[in-house]
Amino acid sequence: MKIRKGDAVLVIAGKDRGKRGKVRRAFPKENKIIVEGINMIKRHSRARGVARQAGIIEREAPIHVSNVMLLCNKCNKPTRTGFRFLADGKKARICRVCQEMVD
Ligand SMILES: [Zn+2]
Repeated sequence: MKIRKGDAVLVIAGKDRGKRGKVRRAFPKENKIIVEGINMIKRHSRARGVARQAGIIEREAPIHVSNVMLLCNKCNKPTRTGFRFLADGKKARICRVCQEMVD
């Protein structure tokens, strides 16, 4: 998956289109991510012992990676991700806008 935990992303689809946030969790198998403050859903929950509070809890729901673009940490622009192989054989992500390595 091209997006990883800790990445800054721009949301390009859905109700949070245009917002930016940091990836809090990544689910590579499902191609989904949780982004801070994005795709908030309200959960109505009843107190269940001491662990859970009663009432409405707002939390982030996962969104599909195709709904976001990576924000380059070098040029600060939304970009598609490219890959480049390093001398040691490792794969590094590059920004298609400025061609800098993102990792
Ligand atoms: Zn860039």
